[in-house]
Amino acid sequence: MVGTMHAWQAVERGHEVVQIEREAEARGASLRNFGQIWVSGRAGGEELDTALRARELWERIGAEVPGLGFRANGSLTPVRTPRELAVAEAALARPDAAARGYKLLTAAEAREVNPALRGAFEAALWCERDAAVEPRTAQLHLREALRTRAAGRYTFLAGREVREVVGPGAVRDDHGDVHRGDAVVLATGAWLSGLVRELVPDLPVRRVRLQMMQTDPLGEPLTTSVADADSFRYYPAYRSPELDILNAEQEQVPIAAEHKMQLLMVQRRDGGLTIGDTHEYEHPFAFDTLEDPYEHVTAVVESFLGRPLPRIRHRWAGVYAQCTDTTRVVHRQQVADGVWLVTGPGGRGMTCSPAIAETTANELGW
Ligand SMILES: Cc1cc2nc3c(=O)[nH]c(=O)nc-3n(C[C@H](O)[C@H](O)[C@H](O)COP(=O)(O)OP(=O)(O)OC[C@H]3O[C@@H](n4cnc5c(N)ncnc54)[C@H](O)[C@@H]3O)c2cc1C
Repeated sequence: MVGTMHAWQAVERGHEVVQIEREAEARGASLRNFGQIWVSGRAGGEELDTALRARELWERIGAEVPGLGFRANGSLTPVRTPRELAVAEAALARPDAAARGYKLLTAAEAREVNPALRGAFEAALWCERDAAVEPRTAQLHLREALRTRAAGRYTFLAGREVREVVGPGAVRDDHGDVHRGDAVVLATGAWLSGLVRELVPDLPVRRVRLQMMQTDPLGEPLTTSVADADSFRYYPAYRSPELDILNAEQEQVPIAAEHKMQLLMVQRRDGGLTIGDTHEYEHPFAFDTLEDPYEHVTAVVESFLGRPLPRIRHRWAGVYAQCTDTTRVVHRQQVADGVWLVTGPGGRGMTCSPAIAETTANELGW
């Protein structure tokens, strides 16, 4: 999506774009994610500004490309204990709470917004600015729109791996063909070996692996995205003395702590639920998916919905690239004459990709 949004920006500014993808179609983190355009937990300052700008751009592009499935569904984070409630209240007291559309709802109010939440909880943090798109098909629809709107100025070359920088603004692919431009943007996601390692041996970016699943259709609308209070422990917006108390006095369930889990959940267009996630930082990553975290997250979801989950239809893992300084929104670096590397947006890359591409375009004077 980072590469595709750079193509979008360049085409919008009247340029000709060749997008080179080594797979037959994109297969990276951008397909494997929740499709959450997630504003709620972002750190105040540059990160929130980027997410809010990106949210605007997603909405605008979503209006032009209905296939993206952009919807301003908002999110609810139900809380169950006084300590969780205190963290939600602290978030509401942030100076940027209004920009995020935070509101604290009673359980009854939350059920008015999202009637599928029939389980037990005391209150819920509402974030009006959160939104969602359909990640599995988003890039197909964007490419289609690019082909139409760019009228011959957009070419997608699939099944070609960029192997080498061969001169100013020039790269060679694994077919031996050289592609030249005024600017080359390498947006290789979490593929940081090979070409990227040669160009930047000490790249300040790490890789993180997540486990996910998707159910059969729920049979009713889940009108908002849903998170659990464990998400407070990971997202910077919730850092507060109240969170310190939660962390110190309310232990996470051991399996959730072991796999650095939180619940995030969004309903797909077909009615299925995308549910996650875990976080794995140690290499080498597992090559298989583990069942225990799935059992935990299933129990959490069922406790919020007050009903059994439909059958699990898909299980998968995905890997994203994250700046080792996690306060940085992205790693953007000129790696050769006319060649820039843009990677490391971490768990917010789907959200921020349109704004990241816009910043690149502005900085490079496209
Ligand atoms: C499970 C999971 C859930 C997530 N949920 C969310 C979420 O809900 N919201 C959010 O904001 N973010 C989320 N993220 C993060 C987000 O998905 C990523 O930050 C973002 O998708 C990264 O986009 P990208 O284009 O940089 O990488 P990718 O999508 O991985 O794309 C990189 C592409 O480059 C291609 N490529 C690599 N090397 C070469 C080469 N040499 N030549 C040609 N092609 C090459 C690859 O084949 C791939 O298609 C999630 C990530 C994961 C893994």
